[in-house]
Amino acid sequence: MIPSVLPTYNRAPLEFVKGEGSWLIEKDGRRFLDLGAGIAVNVLGHANPELVAALTEQAQNLWHVSNLYQIPQQQALADKLVAASFADTVFFTNSGTESCELAVKMARKYWYDKGQPDRTDIITFEGSFHGRSSAGIAAAGSEKMTKGFGPILPGFVHLKWGDHDALRAAVTDTTAAILIEPVQGEGGIRPLPDQCLKCLRDLCDETGTLLILDEVQCGVGRTGKLFAHEWAGVTPDIMMVAKGIGGGFPLGAVLATEDAASGMTAGTHGSTYGGNPLGCAVGCKVIDIVSDPAFLAQVNRTAGTLRQSLEGLVASHPDVFEEVRGTGLMLGLKCKTPNIDLVNAGYAEQVITVPAADNVVRLLPPLNLTEDDVAEAIARLDRAASRVKP
Ligand SMILES: *Cc1c(COP(=O)(O)O)cnc(C)c1O
Repeated sequence: MIPSVLPTYNRAPLEFVKGEGSWLIEKDGRRFLDLGAGIAVNVLGHANPELVAALTEQAQNLWHVSNLYQIPQQQALADKLVAASFADTVFFTNSGTESCELAVKMARKYWYDKGQPDRTDIITFEGSFHGRSSAGIAAAGSEKMTKGFGPILPGFVHLKWGDHDALRAAVTDTTAAILIEPVQGEGGIRPLPDQCLKCLRDLCDETGTLLILDEVQCGVGRTGKLFAHEWAGVTPDIMMVAKGIGGGFPLGAVLATEDAASGMTAGTHGSTYGGNPLGCAVGCKVIDIVSDPAFLAQVNRTAGTLRQSLEGLVASHPDVFEEVRGTGLMLGLKCKTPNIDLVNAGYAEQVITVPAADNVVRLLPPLNLTEDDVAEAIARLDRAASRVKP
């Protein structure tokens, strides 16, 4: 008999009833150090007092109002994002995959309105992940996600990660946009080198192609800058955001330049919940905290300590680990033993990690984890690695 919850997930037998900072408390009372943060969502940890205050204050006044009316919390969050980024304008969604939908629609509408309606193709990359909607799975293109769900949305061109010549050849007069994650998350924590992102920008400038960055996982302070592309010193035309921006409240956004967004006039797109007062009140607080240079400096210090400690961990377990990869607090342990074994051993040692493709174990902790949390993380991961030693 089918379970009452549609069985699309393989769930661990863990039931968390409370969160405190970087810690999750299981119903049996055990405390788990959370290095997954709900897959890069709880950027300020669990039950952060400032976020709780922002949410509850808004909840006492107004939860939801239609986008038929003015929503000052939405306006405030858009203003903050525009002030803090390349963007001139923002549309709010409730998830990453909804941000993908709009990014794709925006790119196609751009060329339609420019009188080049055949420029509809979006170039994407092997190992990418853009969510589970029809556009998201078509964009990623992997058999694992698309099989059985045909007909698949057309107009996506899939290229190998890192094949520069293939990329140059693939940009034609039907190319609307290039869509890429500055750091692949699900694909196994694979950062795009800054130089490659610069070259992508140049290629897009030469050909008029729009550059869409998917910063759903790597954005909102995760790499030690507010947005990951800032490290390369170039900007996209369109950017997808979600996960961390709500700090645990479902919230996403598409940021764009005025030019890239020019086709999205009144009536061309919408969302009932997108940009609701509750989500935006929380989002404002998240952006206030995370965009503070002192906060980002602390993220970079913590990331440095964690990285260095992980290098030591890898060196002391050469049969278990191949390398540490990633950037900021978006780190991956490339394993020699099956990654899921290490994740399960972590559960036994009460530390939460997240598996990714390419036999990687992901560490995406709250951005405000403490030095003590880092030391505890390494101690627990060390014991977990000893458990899986072949
Ligand atoms: C998680 C993720 C998505 C999808 O976000 P949802 O909120 O699950 O729809 C899209 N892109 C990237 C890079 C992601 O990590």
